[in-house]
Amino acid sequence: MKPNFKCVGILPLIRHGVSVIALAAVTFTADASLDVVTTTADLAALVTVVGGDRVKVTALAKPTEDPHFVDPKPSYIVRLNRADLLVESGAELEDSWLRPLLQGARNAALLAGGEGRVQAAAGIELIDVPDALDRSKGDLHAAGNPHFLMDPFKARMAAQSISEAMARLDPGSADYYRANFVRFGELLDRRLEVWQKRLEPHRGRRLVAYHNIWPYFGRRFGLRIDLFLEPKPGIPPTPASLSDVVAEMNRDNIRLILVEPFQPRRVAERVAARTRAEVVDLTQYPGGMKGTEGGYLELMDYLIETLAVALDKTQ
Ligand SMILES: [Zn+2]
Repeated sequence: MKPNFKCVGILPLIRHGVSVIALAAVTFTADASLDVVTTTADLAALVTVVGGDRVKVTALAKPTEDPHFVDPKPSYIVRLNRADLLVESGAELEDSWLRPLLQGARNAALLAGGEGRVQAAAGIELIDVPDALDRSKGDLHAAGNPHFLMDPFKARMAAQSISEAMARLDPGSADYYRANFVRFGELLDRRLEVWQKRLEPHRGRRLVAYHNIWPYFGRRFGLRIDLFLEPKPGIPPTPASLSDVVAEMNRDNIRLILVEPFQPRRVAERVAARTRAEVVDLTQYPGGMKGTEGGYLELMDYLIETLAVALDKTQ
């Protein structure tokens, strides 16, 4: 060890009266401080907006997968075992596949009521809550409609729940998470005006969808999306149930049928052939279709513009 050798560069400076300040090498680790798992891609997008580079986030369901029926892979158990925070929609959206995964994961913090669990539905007023629970007919929305993130206002509420949970688990970054949430809310407010203006000419128009993901979106943007190819959420259509839908579409001149990537488009096409309607491909998840990968606001941009164009065309 020859320390003088190391100092040879600054010694001449000191000799000439120049003060040398050696700064300690303070580095901020690029490693994310929180490991977050979400059930679906929309929640992962909200986690990213709030957590930035201080979180690592993984969505279990693919954005092209039906959120009610996700294929529970063994690797998901490992992810849940290591996670600090689990964010789900709740309202029974993920119940059937998430519960067995959590049993395998043995991570007490993620259990319902645990400090590492966010159920976005908490504090959100659900639409279509039945007076009494009745799953006997296989209704997937037996606890109320769980697709509330289709309303940007409710997505903002979910983002706030996420930022508060992260602030609690990682107090050192609490200000950062909260500031990101506030910025997201401001961006969302500005975009909301644009979205509402774009759909305003179509206020009151009636549309058909394969599955009822739309009541929150419809209310927010003044569209009536209250007729579905499924006779009940999760129950496949029959020839008789489709004939009823066709009759109503022709009676009310309904011109659009909305389908998602995981739904049987052929069924929608057969209905379109018996009506004056066209099939419109949409997704409820960022990354579910090309052009929606950017995040929640970009997904909404895509939905609003695609719908507006289809509505313009079928005036
Ligand atoms: Zn559903």
